[in-house]
Amino acid sequence: MAAIERRTTELTAPSSWEYAAAPESRDIVSFDDRYGLFIGGRDVSPRSRSWFTTVSPSSEEPLAEVSQAGPTDVGLAVDAARTAFASWSRIRPSERAKVLFRIARVLQERSRELAVAESLDGGKPIKESRDVDLPLAAAHFFYYAGWADKLEYAFPGRRPRPLGVAAQIVPWNFPLLMLAWKIAPALACGNTVVLKPAETTPLTALLFADVCRQAEVPPGVVNIVTGDGSTGAHLVRHPGIDKVAFTGSTEVGKAIQRELAGRGVSLTLELGGKAANVVFEDCALDQAVEGIVNGIYFNQGHVCCAGSRLLVQESIHDQLVRKLKRRMATLRVGDPLDKNTDVGAINSRAQLDRITELVAIGQEEGAELYQPPCRLPEKGWWFVPTVFTNVAQSHRIAREEIFGPVLSVLTFRTPAEAVEKANNTMYGLSAGVWTEKGSRLLWMAERLRAGVVWGNTFNRFDPASPFGGYKESGFGREGGRHGLEPYLRFE
Ligand code: NAD
Repeated sequence: MAAIERRTTELTAPSSWEYAAAPESRDIVSFDDRYGLFIGGRDVSPRSRSWFTTVSPSSEEPLAEVSQAGPTDVGLAVDAARTAFASWSRIRPSERAKVLFRIARVLQERSRELAVAESLDGGKPIKESRDVDLPLAAAHFFYYAGWADKLEYAFPGRRPRPLGVAAQIVPWNFPLLMLAWKIAPALACGNTVVLKPAETTPLTALLFADVCRQAEVPPGVVNIVTGDGSTGAHLVRHPGIDKVAFTGSTEVGKAIQRELAGRGVSLTLELGGKAANVVFEDCALDQAVEGIVNGIYFNQGHVCCAGSRLLVQESIHDQLVRKLKRRMATLRVGDPLDKNTDVGAINSRAQLDRITELVAIGQEEGAELYQPPCRLPEKGWWFVPTVFTNVAQSHRIAREEIFGPVLSVLTFRTPAEAVEKANNTMYGLSAGVWTEKGSRLLWMAERLRAGVVWGNTFNRFDPASPFGGYKESGFGREGGRHGLEPYLRFE
C-alpha cells in the first residue's frame, strides 16, 4: 500500500510535466556559402578580397562566409546610392510609397524564413523573432509607406526635402528590426541608403537584399555593406554621405560624433541604456513579475531599453523577490529554434565574456546572486537568467550596461526617492512604472529622464511611437512622425 501511494505521488509531481521539444524546421532557409556586397542592386564581389565566417551562437556551426568591405567597397556603395538619389528623390512620392508597401508585403510573405535565419545567426528564441522582430519590421515599412506621400501634412507650413545619402549602422541584437527602423523612414523621405549590419549577425540584412530585388526597389536605393567596425568607420569617414544614423554602444557613438564634428553631416545616435523598472507596493504584483521578466530576460537581455535595474518599494521587496525567483525557475533556456524556448543563446563569445566578467564583479562587490537550476546545452554560448539582490547604487552592476540576462534589485521608500534613484544614471533611454494609481504613473512619467516610460507594461514597441534617448543614450527619435525629421531638411 505504501509503495502504491509513493508511486502516485511521483506521477503527479510537477517535474513529470516536461515540455516536449517543438523545433521549427531550419530547412525553410538556405544560406549561400559565400556572400558578396549588395551594391547598385547587384551582388558584388568585394574589392578587398576579404571574407569572414558568421557562426550560429547556439551551436558554433559556421553558417556562411561574408564580405569584409574595405574603403573601396564602401566608396562604390556610396557612389551607387548617390547616383540612385537623383531619380529616387524626384519620383512621385506615391511611387515611393508603393515600393515600401511591397517591401512590407514581401517581409510578411517570407517572415518564417527570415525568423529562422535571425534565430540561427543571432541566437534569439524563434518565438521572439517570429512574433516580435518580423511583424514589427514589416509594420515599420507599412507605417512609413503611409507617410511617403504625406510629408507636407506631417510638417505643415514647411517644405520637407530629403537629405541625400544616409549611412546607417546597426547592432546585433535586433538585426532585421533595426534595419527596418533605419531604412523605412529614410526611403519614405526620398533618401537612399548604405547600411552596415553588425559583424555577428549579417545574414538577415543579406537576405533583405533579395527582398529588395523582389520588391523591385530601384538599383542603388538600398545598398548593404558587411564587415566589422572598420567598415563602419570607413562609411562614417566617407565624404559623400549626408547623414549618419547609428545604433550601438555609447563608446562608438561618441567616436562617430567626434569624426563628424564640423562636417555638416546630420547625425542621430541610439545608444546604450540602464533602465529603471519601478515597482510600487500598490501594483498588481503578479503582472509586475511578468513585466520584470519580460523587461530583462527578453532577447537574453540584449536589449538597449532592458529593465536592468529593478527598483522595488521596500514594503514588498521580499514578497516580490520570492515570486520573481519562482517565475525564473520556469524559464526555458536552450535551442533558439525550439518554439518553447524563452531564453536563447548569448550572441557571441565576446559578449558572454563581458557578462561573465560583470557578474563576477557583482559578487565581489557584495551583491547576492541567484540563478535558478538550469541545464545548459553543451555547445554554444549561454548564460543562466540571473538576479542580484542587496545591490547598492555604487555597484558596477547597477551602473554599467551588462547587455545580458542579469537583473539588479534595489529598493526605495517614497516616490521621490524612486525618481532620484531611477535618474541616477548616465543613460536615459527607457523606464517602467508599476502602480494601480494613474495619477502616480503620470507624476513619475513627468519626472523620469527617459525617452520612453512604460506604465504597467515593458518592452512594448509600435512603429507609430517615437523611441530614443536622453543623455548618453543618444539623441534623435526613431518611429512615429518624429522619426521622419532626422531624414529631412526644410526649405
Ligand atoms: P557596437 O557599438 O560595438 O557596434 C554597433 C555597430 O557599429 C556594429 O555594426 C559595429 O560593427 C559598428 N561599429 C563598431 N565600431 C565602429 C566604428 N568605429 N565606426 C563605425 N561603426 C562601428 O555595439 P554592439 O556591441 O554591436 O551593440 C550593443 C550596443 O548597442 C549596446 O550598448 C546597446 O545598448 C546598443 N543598442 C542601442 C539601441 C537603441 O535603440 N538605443 C538599440 C540596440 C542596441
